[in-house]
Amino acid sequence: MNPTDCYFAGLDIGGSTVKAVLVDAAAEQAGPPVEVKSRVKEGYETTFAQLESALDQLAAGAGIERSRIRGVGLDVPAPSSNGVIWGKANLGDDWVGTDIRGELSARLGVPVYMTNDCNAAAVGEYALRKYHTSSLMLVAPGTGLGGGFVLPGGRVYEGVNGMALEVGHVTVPFREEDGSLPACSCGLTGCAEAWVSLMALRRRVGIELAKPQWAAHPLNQGDLTIEEKAFRLRDFAAAGDELAVSIFKQQGFILGYMIADMVRVFDPGLVVIGGGLAESAFRDDYMKWVEEGFADRAWAVFRYSPVEPEKQTTRFEWATGGDAAAAIGMAYTARELFA
Ligand SMILES: [Zn+2]
Repeated sequence: MNPTDCYFAGLDIGGSTVKAVLVDAAAEQAGPPVEVKSRVKEGYETTFAQLESALDQLAAGAGIERSRIRGVGLDVPAPSSNGVIWGKANLGDDWVGTDIRGELSARLGVPVYMTNDCNAAAVGEYALRKYHTSSLMLVAPGTGLGGGFVLPGGRVYEGVNGMALEVGHVTVPFREEDGSLPACSCGLTGCAEAWVSLMALRRRVGIELAKPQWAAHPLNQGDLTIEEKAFRLRDFAAAGDELAVSIFKQQGFILGYMIADMVRVFDPGLVVIGGGLAESAFRDDYMKWVEEGFADRAWAVFRYSPVEPEKQTTRFEWATGGDAAAAIGMAYTARELFA
């Protein structure tokens, strides 16, 4: 086959859907993106059938035979190493310990690359910035706090075991008002994720609403669950509600602290903030709070060049790929590796 006739697919497996993107040999998207149910709880074979369906739909959308898809990039919502998933997350039991990459490659008859969803989204953000050739660090507050680091040229840095860039579990120098360090989902205390995540919002909103000053707050009326209260917090913040703004302001500030420590290690030049806040109505304020935290913690040289005082040494941008970023990153990587 003529190399210019080849296509590459990115498949992003989430808890409920698979998002799929096709690129051609020039790394341009071909045909529309596709979304199918992931059915991950039913075992990996069931999901593989869904992946094949997604590939069929991608090929049909681009008007090509599926045999012209010469490589696949796959990302999974779980820690994985060398094509093998190490932790269940919200997948079915049989995913863990299986050579998922090898099984899928054998089934499809094409090479497969596999990594986790945060790494994939980081590469996607890199691929979407077509004129960006230096490195990029992604931090993505969501249910947890994930991260990814892309090296100059576009290859993700995964670490030897695929476990690098667990930025959510860097310790930050903050305590609750009673002096305690908050517990993290990972079993440690004081992690950045314990302050900057949906889990953190639930804890923080519970603590704040128990204070007398918020007794009359609308979120204290009725019998909303803590999950519902945390969910509504974003709309309240967008409307300028004092409590909601104070909670997100603290979260952004602490995120800036964590980023400053990561920048001191990786010096990425560009930090991309992903996750759902990238689409929030108060994102400009949130970015300002992140940059305030960063300014408080970062060395001066990581803000401006000492010899060109106007030149920023670390820039911040919002993610642009939305929830398609991971699939885009995996299509891009498959083309890089298998073209
Ligand atoms: Zn942790």
